[in-house]
Amino acid sequence: MKIKVAKFGGTSLADAIQIAKVKKIIMADPARRYIVPSAPGKSAIYDVKVTDLLYGLENAIEKGDDYLPFYRQIYSRFIDIKQQLGLETNIESELEKILRDLLNGEGVDYAASRGEYLNGMLIADYLGYTFIDAAEVILFDKRGKYDEKATERVLSDRLSHLEHAVIPGFYGSMPNGSIKTFSRGGSDVTGAIVSAAVRADLYENWTDVSGFYMADPRIVKHAKKVESVTYRELRELSYMGAAVLHEDSIFPVYKYAIPINVRNTNEPETPGTMIIPTIENYDGPPVTGIAGKKNFTIISIEKNGMNSELGFGRKVLACIEKYGIPFEHMPSSIDTLCVVLEDAKVKDNINDIVDDIHRTCEPDSVEIVRNLALIATVGKRMRESIGTAAALFTALAKANINIRMIDQGSSEMNIIVGVKNEDFERTMNAIHDAFAL
Ligand code: ADP
Ligand code: ASP
Ligand code: MG
Repeated sequence: MKIKVAKFGGTSLADAIQIAKVKKIIMADPARRYIVPSAPGKSAIYDVKVTDLLYGLENAIEKGDDYLPFYRQIYSRFIDIKQQLGLETNIESELEKILRDLLNGEGVDYAASRGEYLNGMLIADYLGYTFIDAAEVILFDKRGKYDEKATERVLSDRLSHLEHAVIPGFYGSMPNGSIKTFSRGGSDVTGAIVSAAVRADLYENWTDVSGFYMADPRIVKHAKKVESVTYRELRELSYMGAAVLHEDSIFPVYKYAIPINVRNTNEPETPGTMIIPTIENYDGPPVTGIAGKKNFTIISIEKNGMNSELGFGRKVLACIEKYGIPFEHMPSSIDTLCVVLEDAKVKDNINDIVDDIHRTCEPDSVEIVRNLALIATVGKRMRESIGTAAALFTALAKANINIRMIDQGSSEMNIIVGVKNEDFERTMNAIHDAFAL
């Protein structure tokens, strides 16, 4: 029999009504054996994610502020689910223990992870499935890096004895037993890890949209749905802001070529989008998707003869590395080099960095451009199709958008443009409309 792993996101599990829908979906297909839930997210009734309340609770305790408003909200979210679904789990004592642990100094990762932990317990009870605490099966090393080998061994062994199980998303544990979370949205990563461990035939990622759209539907209202996306395209797009799937969801399933199906909990009859290793003989449109983020800074350096100066790029990057700042892109031409950095990471050090560049690289000029948005246009067929770049730039010219930077990624699968923050939404719409045929 086929095995499917089904991960449900925060909005899909926000309250008892949503969880009841999820049970229907799970029961409709016996292959849906391993379930990975998120913490309750936003819904029609609630406008805050439980994970955010948990971060707030920990922060208030740490600062010595009044933490009870956070605790009461978290408490009532879980009690409502329990009562409305008629469950027996003693969630009250779990909640009380969590508060005690936090008052005794348990840290922020422990706090954040409790939304998935408690929701997982309730959902396991509701489905009649075994609950597995992710701390026992999702393992990080002592530096806090995800330990793929150890996890696969422990998790595969544990699940091989179970017909059905609920494994909460987003967290695991370090060798000393302390809880460690992935970055935000990390339940997607847990879903992929569980899929790899059981060699699933399909990883279903159930969310609140009917699949992957050419652009974020919150920004491009009429965004076109995409039928299939390759792993590599998805990674480029999710890294650049297409938040529907965490960018690290691909690594675990890559090895076993497990397809991911993004589906809508509120519209289970629609097939959603398939995310697959590669598409053989693909001859569809050149652009698969557009994604972007705001708030970048460009350091633009000019120096005559830069191209023949040995080690110039390295010296520039060393000035930035000194402050522990990673760079996003580095487009260059014969006498100029630009380094693109996140505003938030660079804002305290920008003057020192520019001074260092002047001292060590002796450029002719250094210019800083702030408040820039980056937009990536991604497509596996872009490298073979003539005129994609021309169509993109024509669309932006027609919309009267000034491009501050262009970078064609070395994968030749994307073109990145930098525009002013205030032009971000217009740029996304203009590029979408130029390629959504
Ligand atoms: P979940 O809680 O189910 O994990 P997320 O909020 O993390 O859901 O991701 C789903 C959201 O991703 C959608 O509601 C949508 O607003 C956003 N999104 C951003 N880019 C895209 C895109 N290209 N296609 C579909 N959804 C997108
Ligand atoms: N609950 C976590 C978050 O809000 C993880 C997830 O939903 O994937 O980031
Ligand atoms: Mg998510």
